[in-house]
Amino acid sequence: MTLRSTCGIVLKISEHGESDKLVTIYSRDLGRVTGIAKGAKRSRKRFVNKLEEFSSLQIFYRPPRGLTGLLFISEAELLCAHLPIRKDFRRYICAMYINELTLRFTRDNDPDPRLYALLQWTFASLNFDNAPQKIAALYHLQLLDLAGYRPELDRCFNCQQPVGPDRTFIFLPGNGSLLCSVCHHGHNGPSCNHISVQTLKFLAKAQVASLDLINRLQLSRTTASEALESLYHYTIHLLQQDIHSWQAVRFLSTIPTRKKIEGLVARHGAHNIASLEI
Ligand SMILES: [Zn+2]
Repeated sequence: MTLRSTCGIVLKISEHGESDKLVTIYSRDLGRVTGIAKGAKRSRKRFVNKLEEFSSLQIFYRPPRGLTGLLFISEAELLCAHLPIRKDFRRYICAMYINELTLRFTRDNDPDPRLYALLQWTFASLNFDNAPQKIAALYHLQLLDLAGYRPELDRCFNCQQPVGPDRTFIFLPGNGSLLCSVCHHGHNGPSCNHISVQTLKFLAKAQVASLDLINRLQLSRTTASEALESLYHYTIHLLQQDIHSWQAVRFLSTIPTRKKIEGLVARHGAHNIASLEI
């Protein structure tokens, strides 16, 4: 049988037996698929340094024998390793979160070219943009939209008051919508997230922006953290299960910014904080 080929982003790699690896990719024309790379742990040529999470690959494969089942991957070409993501733990943590969300919101053999384009944009942006949490928030927001769970972030769902400075708002993770301060008496339970008007304005703009313009949206790390927190609570409500990499993403909002660390280096000398990976 002749080999077929497709391009995709690696979502997950796992060991399989003594010498094989299982590779899950999101491919342009196949959607999410998993293949087996025989002998990948020993191969010096066909797979070395290629089968890594976040890499963009062209794979050469034989289709599974049945409708479901594993592809047989015979070779892979590295299109882009996304090295900056591997060298910066902030980018790396956000990329892990993005991959986990993708795995949770997709099914096997169900291609969506819009999601493929979104993934390509996301990993390219994580490579060069210095605000990985912003990229993760934008990805999360757009993924929810593609999956049919677009949150309503521009008005109070009860009185229809548009988001503006004259009221505060809480986000209701149970139904993905907002409640304004006038309407939310009795809704201040632990599942409710207060969300600033600034964050809501950013998210509402991001929901309608095209991918080629979305990078121009600016937001602070605090705003990105608030956006991610709200989207996370909404998502675990939808999935009814936790997202493992969330704790690491949340940790990012508690550590000093790169600018602050650079300030510390300037004041105290690099030898005191040289062990910090920034
Ligand atoms: Zn209201």
